[in-house]
Amino acid sequence: MNVNCILLRYGELSLKGKNKKDFEERLVRNIRQKLEHFAGIKVSKHFGRLFIELGDNPADPIIEECKDVFGLVGFSPAMRVQTDLEVIKEAALRLLQSQGDQVKTFKVGCKRADKRFPIGSQEMNQLVGGHLLANSHSHYKVDVRNPDLFVHVEIRSMEDTYIYGNDIPGLGGLPVGTSGRVLLLLSGGIDSPVAGYLALKRGVELHAIHFHSYPFTSERAKQKVMDLAQQLTRFGGKIRLHVVPFTEIQTEINKHCYESYTITIMRRFMLRIAEAVAKKNSALALVTGESLGQVASQTLESMTAINAVTHMPILRPVVGWDKTEIIDISKEIDTYETSILPYEDCCTIFTPKAPKTRPDVEVCERLETKLNVEQLVQEAVEGVEVIDFFPQKEEEVSFF
Ligand code: ATP
Ligand code: MG
Repeated sequence: MNVNCILLRYGELSLKGKNKKDFEERLVRNIRQKLEHFAGIKVSKHFGRLFIELGDNPADPIIEECKDVFGLVGFSPAMRVQTDLEVIKEAALRLLQSQGDQVKTFKVGCKRADKRFPIGSQEMNQLVGGHLLANSHSHYKVDVRNPDLFVHVEIRSMEDTYIYGNDIPGLGGLPVGTSGRVLLLLSGGIDSPVAGYLALKRGVELHAIHFHSYPFTSERAKQKVMDLAQQLTRFGGKIRLHVVPFTEIQTEINKHCYESYTITIMRRFMLRIAEAVAKKNSALALVTGESLGQVASQTLESMTAINAVTHMPILRPVVGWDKTEIIDISKEIDTYETSILPYEDCCTIFTPKAPKTRPDVEVCERLETKLNVEQLVQEAVEGVEVIDFFPQKEEEVSFF
């Protein structure tokens, strides 16, 4: 008798009615997609609980995959066994014996959901606990307050009983796809991939957009952003990246605007284009890696001047975080090493000596009258290259 399924826990308490159904369906779909490459896996619902049926697969690699799925609060490798006292005792013993050396104390907690089973929970705890003590190494002890291993015995029906150990914590959050679609402004830096990860945690589906100024910025800078998009698929499933040709706009801005305003105006163009691409792709909000006060250009005045060109909500998941905290997440999600590669970004290429830290909207508007804003935006949108990224697969390229 071995672990044959994984019991999944999710934030069901706050969910009701149709929301609950959507949440569960999406979660199941995301888990199936994540486990696609394992043969014989099944995700199913029994007695109001979600399970992964392992088939012939070992539990550990599947648990590793589950740790990347938003919406899962926790999970436990479990054994589904016949509801029979002797079978239950043996299964509980197997569970205890399969633990590492750190486990020295245990507690049995029995739940009898089907009252037709003739033995009460308290008596079951004693019977199973006694069996474990009598048949395992002598160094195991019972600790009802703070056990190393909690042996759960759930008698669901006269046929099925579940035996499982400690809860392994999951990522929490909401299943990707339950909160609509957003467009992430993805640079090659540290912050925007983290912002994308945190947006995914709230259940959005991600599209990404990158502004590329070839030949001012190299193909390798673009490749870096493609690598980051690929890395985010680990949590987000399929991610569509829109690469915007930005060279002409940057050249025009540099030709016609004061140097101190180039960054602000460039950002205003980014937002206009991002809004157009978002609308074309049914995304409801933009996401950026902006953090207040991190660099001179990230002031409230600067945000105001930049925001003025769009009515779309802009989510800034890292706005309240310190750089060190953002770096910690980027390391956890494995984007850090890619983000710190030295290839230049379109913003750094044209960085003015003294960027305006408190830019004025009216000055921006006046400067922009020298540019053919609408046409430049339209051309950039028309020139977008679309690249789709899938978890663990090669990207597929198409031109729209
Ligand atoms: P990051 O670490 O994400 O690059 P940052 O701290 O360097 O952020 P900025 O360079 O001021 O901050 O950029 C702020 C945000 O603007 C970025 O987080 C990103 O969302 C967006 N952004 C900047 N440059 C680009 C680009 N070339 N393409 C797409 N989005 C960009
Ligand atoms: Mg940057």
